Amino acid sequence: MKILVPVKRVVDYNVKVRVKADGTGVETANVKMSMNPFDEIAVEEAVRLKEKGAATEIIAISVGPTAAQEQIRTALAMGADRGVLVEVDGVVEPLAVAKILKALVDKESPQLVIMGKQAIDDDMNATGQMLAALLGWGQGTFASKVEIADGSAKVTREVDGGLETVSLTLPAIVTADLRLNEPRYASLPNIMKARKKPIETVKPADLGIDASPRLTVLKVEEPPKRSAGKKVGSVAELVDKLRNEAKVI
Ligand code: AMP
Repeated sequence: MKILVPVKRVVDYNVKVRVKADGTGVETANVKMSMNPFDEIAVEEAVRLKEKGAATEIIAISVGPTAAQEQIRTALAMGADRGVLVEVDGVVEPLAVAKILKALVDKESPQLVIMGKQAIDDDMNATGQMLAALLGWGQGTFASKVEIADGSAKVTREVDGGLETVSLTLPAIVTADLRLNEPRYASLPNIMKARKKPIETVKPADLGIDASPRLTVLKVEEPPKRSAGKKVGSVAELVDKLRNEAKVI
């Protein structure tokens, strides 16, 4: 069984993001970039399935600038077998990514696509669902457990009310939630080995896809600053302030 794992290059989760001075987006120049954390979980799950003998090949795919090769290399160092970089400069929206992934699914015929539940840069939480719709495949989103047996995937999903278990006929899409696993750190020998693994580079046009944006961002701005809190001396003073200043009781 082949598994595709899409990995997105995003601003590292430790970075405090800043809005660009002209309000067109978030500053990414000279900012540390990493693999989207949920995609690391997806890669880890694919590698565990391969280690258990349930998968034979893992292909890491990134849609983004040339530098997104770094994120593919990270996936290769964690245990993916080969990579595909779909080179696009600038913004790529979830629908364009889903169309590109569909074209690659048509080419590679995997039984499973495991991806992140959302990318932490724009928090869209849309690409997996769109890909499932374009392919007409079943989807197990927000997965916290995945078991593969007899041509199906049993996926435990984190839903608002608790946990839901769905059974998907393969091929299918799974999107990883935080508690699915704890991703491994790549060892130095595996980082060295990953340098020799192949990465194919293609353009969206090679796949017959127009990846140009369909949405226009009007403005990006910082959230309003929170004003400083106040200390009160007694419960009576607190009640008075809530009633007469904040007017919430
Ligand atoms: P989103 O719908 O943008 O929140 O992203 C959900 C998931 O789709 C991510 O965790 C990735 O697995 C995948 N994805 C989104 N954008 C890209 C991209 N440019 N390249 C590769 N994978 C992507």
